[in-house]
Amino acid sequence: MINKNMELLGKQPSVIRDIHEYSVKRKSEIGENNVFDFSIGNPSIPTPAEVKDTILKLLSESDGIKLHAYTSDAGNHNTRVAIANDTNNRFRFKVSAENIYMTCGAAASLEISIRAICNVGDEVIVLSPYFPEYKVYIENAGAKAVEVLCRKNDFGIDIKAIENAVNSKTKAIIVNSPNNPSGVVFSEEDISSLAELLNSYSEEYSQPIYIIADEPYREIVYGGVNVPFIPCYYDNTIVCYSYSKSLSLPGERIGYILISPKATDSSDIFSAVCGAGRASGYICAPSLMQYVIEKCCGIMPDMAKYEKNRDLIYTSLKEIGYNVIRPDGAFYLFVEALEEDANKFCEKAKKFELLLVPSDSFGVKGFVRIAYCVSYDQIKNSIPAFKALFEEYKKGVTL
Ligand code: PLP
Repeated sequence: MINKNMELLGKQPSVIRDIHEYSVKRKSEIGENNVFDFSIGNPSIPTPAEVKDTILKLLSESDGIKLHAYTSDAGNHNTRVAIANDTNNRFRFKVSAENIYMTCGAAASLEISIRAICNVGDEVIVLSPYFPEYKVYIENAGAKAVEVLCRKNDFGIDIKAIENAVNSKTKAIIVNSPNNPSGVVFSEEDISSLAELLNSYSEEYSQPIYIIADEPYREIVYGGVNVPFIPCYYDNTIVCYSYSKSLSLPGERIGYILISPKATDSSDIFSAVCGAGRASGYICAPSLMQYVIEKCCGIMPDMAKYEKNRDLIYTSLKEIGYNVIRPDGAFYLFVEALEEDANKFCEKAKKFELLLVPSDSFGVKGFVRIAYCVSYDQIKNSIPAFKALFEEYKKGVTL
């Protein structure tokens, strides 16, 4: 008999995929520009020109062998040195190539990191709203995901709620900032308080509670907002990073795990990461991309388009009367649904050709996620539909 858990996972519908499929069908019926699909978090700005030029240069100068060969399991040394230097320059931190393991994007970084530190029966705290795949990785490692709600008013970290959830089985907490789906950047105060709490419980239980910092949106911030670099605040941190969003390279599957050299058992964690990468078949991240990252890891995204989109969708929806969480980062807007059941609200929004993601799969009820990594025109043209939807609810009309 095959593995039933895996079969189930493979068959489980993904809400976002379902909406996307509906979008394709609906666009073929009524035209591309008449459907406002806000479901998927695919970057909508092109890969920076320097990245494209680097790829072309590497290909034109290659002998066709080394560029596409296996790298060492943890990744090319020079790539890891470049990432370490970039990190040290930007965050006044001190890591070296030996603390970095190249991976196939943040998804692989998370899967490997969780497997590397968790034993069966351990608990990992996830802060709701959260990226739904966390649960898949945690449960696949035989651990249990413990959901802790963020603060209701601003979706910051609720320290008291975390304190209530921590126990001797707590192995880690995943912190995702800038956040998908809320767009919130956790403040320095929140991160410092969390660090203080975890230090005290690590001491009480005589074992570290790790922070897994999931940071694919680290550079996607507006108005110069500061994203605290968690290893500067908490020693037992494992950073899961990817270039999917910052360099618009999601299909190329490239990222890394950074294990803080200050973690109590840093070199053992690195070995466990190598082991987990090996056990899950994730060794040797895509070679061409490793060479690209060696040259391009310091390049910042051009935020102008995302910022223009953010400003338009945020102010327009607020003006209409929606309750909206102000996003300082990522490219998502979290909006309170106009009825308790976000699924029903999304079904009604569909009647206005608005495709939104209900918050239930993010571990929170009553909200929707709007991925505004779309064209400016799509947002502009969708505003009358958001207004019409709001008006219908105001009238109390059953749609
Ligand atoms: N973590 C978060 C919060 C995400 O939103 C995503 C992708 O959307 C990932 C991890 C996975 O990123 P990657 O495409 O680099 O695997």
